[in-house]
Amino acid sequence: SGRPAPTRTPPSQPAQPARQNGGGAAGGKEKKPPIPKFGKRNDNIDKGDPTNGRPKFCPRAGEEELASLIEADMYVGNLNVSFSDIAGQEEAKGLLEEAVVYPILMPDYFQGIRRPWKGILMYGPPGTGKTMLAKAVASECGTTFFNISPATLTSKWRGEGEKLIRVLFDMARHYAPSTIFIDEIDSLCGQRGGGDEHEASRRAKGVLLTQMDGVGVDPGKIVMVLGATNHPWDIDEAMRRRLEKRIYIPLPTHDDRIELFKINTRSLRLAPNVDFDRLSKILDDHFYSAADITTVARDAAMMTMRRFLSDENTKKELKLRGAEIGKLAAEEPVSMDDFMNAIRKVPSSVNVDQIKKFEEWKKEFETIV
Ligand code: ADP
Repeated sequence: SGRPAPTRTPPSQPAQPARQNGGGAAGGKEKKPPIPKFGKRNDNIDKGDPTNGRPKFCPRAGEEELASLIEADMYVGNLNVSFSDIAGQEEAKGLLEEAVVYPILMPDYFQGIRRPWKGILMYGPPGTGKTMLAKAVASECGTTFFNISPATLTSKWRGEGEKLIRVLFDMARHYAPSTIFIDEIDSLCGQRGGGDEHEASRRAKGVLLTQMDGVGVDPGKIVMVLGATNHPWDIDEAMRRRLEKRIYIPLPTHDDRIELFKINTRSLRLAPNVDFDRLSKILDDHFYSAADITTVARDAAMMTMRRFLSDENTKKELKLRGAEIGKLAAEEPVSMDDFMNAIRKVPSSVNVDQIKKFEEWKKEFETIV
């Protein structure tokens, strides 16, 4: 997914009360965990570690290194996404609230027949907001958030995949309620690659399936598994069965595109002739994703700088008075032509055949068989 996830734990902030044990692996003799503050945004989530005032997770002997890796690379402390940053996807937002937010906020209601889904799958073309939605959901209910991408991690795991997933779930349960977001979840099921790597990823998947069967067993320790994929058809039956709730994240509609242009140009000066409705109509039936629209807006936004620097003399003066030129270029309004030129330059990253394939898969699998 396009958005670079801030997977590194940010440095601790000055306002933070003294941390109990400086982030070491040992610990556990601190004060009692506070009563979780459900129902409002967890303002402690910006902190550099997932303890949030609770005792630190104690890994088993021999698992310390994996636990540190998970905390450094998968735990995301600063989610920084809210539902209002996400254009459209109203249906998905509603479904995710019901499938993730409410079970966390009212765990006692979601028991027995109402138990939470074992896993939730968001599928659809790339760049439509799946990652953003996962983060917004986690941020909405103040859960501890882990972001794992098996595709990029298989090389790092080197046969440790099984252990890593087990430790990840142990940690997620410890810091519950938690959300584990697995991007490109299909890559765990794929026939891609062979030999050792394939075998390692097959075993890692086995552990993931077992762990998913265990989630929801202890209502006090809710761990939600949210998967995302651009290739739902590559997900095998065993995994599909666990991803009980499936949510299609489609391309933006006409209105969504207008909203996307608005969101992305909030800080810009626009010429009076800029007409987002017209721009959105031009893009109709051309399969632009939300990420594509964002790229168009970003490219249009740069045009004022390019106009300034197309003047050779101004360009020569850049080293001398760059800041001043930058300021002038920023004051220059972005015009309708700038957007048109940007559209000419930025192709859509999706095509009609892909969309047809998603719709077919939706018809076949969105309801539970
Ligand atoms: P996905 O996970 O579906 O591939 P992402 O959530 O990673 O897509 O989105 C990539 C980038 O595209 C985001 O960082 C954001 O800039 C933009 N984007 C995607 N979908 C939306 C949306 N619905 N609303 C606003 N911006 C979006």
